Amino acid sequence: MRFASLGSGSRGNATLLSQRATHLLVDCGFSVRETQRRLARIGLSADVLSGIVVTHEHHDHIHGVVSLARKFQIPVYMTRGTCSKLNALDNPYWHPIEPDHDFSVADIHCHPFTIPHDAAEPVQFVFSDGATRLGLLTDTGMITAHIVANLYRLDALLVECNHDLAMLARSDYSASLRARVGGDYGHLNNTQAAQLLSRIDYSGLQHIVAMHLSQQNNTPALAQAALAAVLGCSADEIPVADQADGFDWRTV
Ligand SMILES: [Zn+2]
Ligand SMILES: [Zn+2]
Repeated sequence: MRFASLGSGSRGNATLLSQRATHLLVDCGFSVRETQRRLARIGLSADVLSGIVVTHEHHDHIHGVVSLARKFQIPVYMTRGTCSKLNALDNPYWHPIEPDHDFSVADIHCHPFTIPHDAAEPVQFVFSDGATRLGLLTDTGMITAHIVANLYRLDALLVECNHDLAMLARSDYSASLRARVGGDYGHLNNTQAAQLLSRIDYSGLQHIVAMHLSQQNNTPALAQAALAAVLGCSADEIPVADQADGFDWRTV
């Protein structure tokens, strides 16, 4: 299985998974034109997409979903709660999914699981080609036992490192925005991401990528250092998904 990112952060997210002829887009926080531009960068076009899987309805994850699905007739997999927030319940491309109920998009197996985030019915995923398992965890306010239980025997983990606690505390965000971002239904900080690692079996991980970094309240170096301290590797071995460029194909 291959995976890549078209961009990651509060201004737009989209992740790609490919297994043989199956190309699965996870979230689409960019306009149709921008998504096409970014897909071209990694050698894909929108008309080959097998499906779009949506984690939740925040703008940085759904901006281009409905128009891309309409334009290229792509099935969209999302929970009823997410779909209702998109006003897309009558969309013919919608395939309802439920947390903890597995489904497949052609060659890629998808396992959605519930996470705490301030959205209607948010989920994150473990994807598998039958042999390898890739966990995606962003937009999560805290680490629950349920999350830890789902992220077992992973070969790759894409994990949110949204903010550094000290940087968030002294940011120019309003008190309410600071509370939202740092709260139990907000976003994972570097320390929480590192704690998650220490609670799962990471011995089989071939890839770990830091995702969804805040451009105001984090730096790649801080996120890398937090994860590297648990893994016992050097910080520059930890790739960071970028808002502008995401990251290029990796194979797991
Ligand atoms: Zn987000
Ligand atoms: Zn969100």
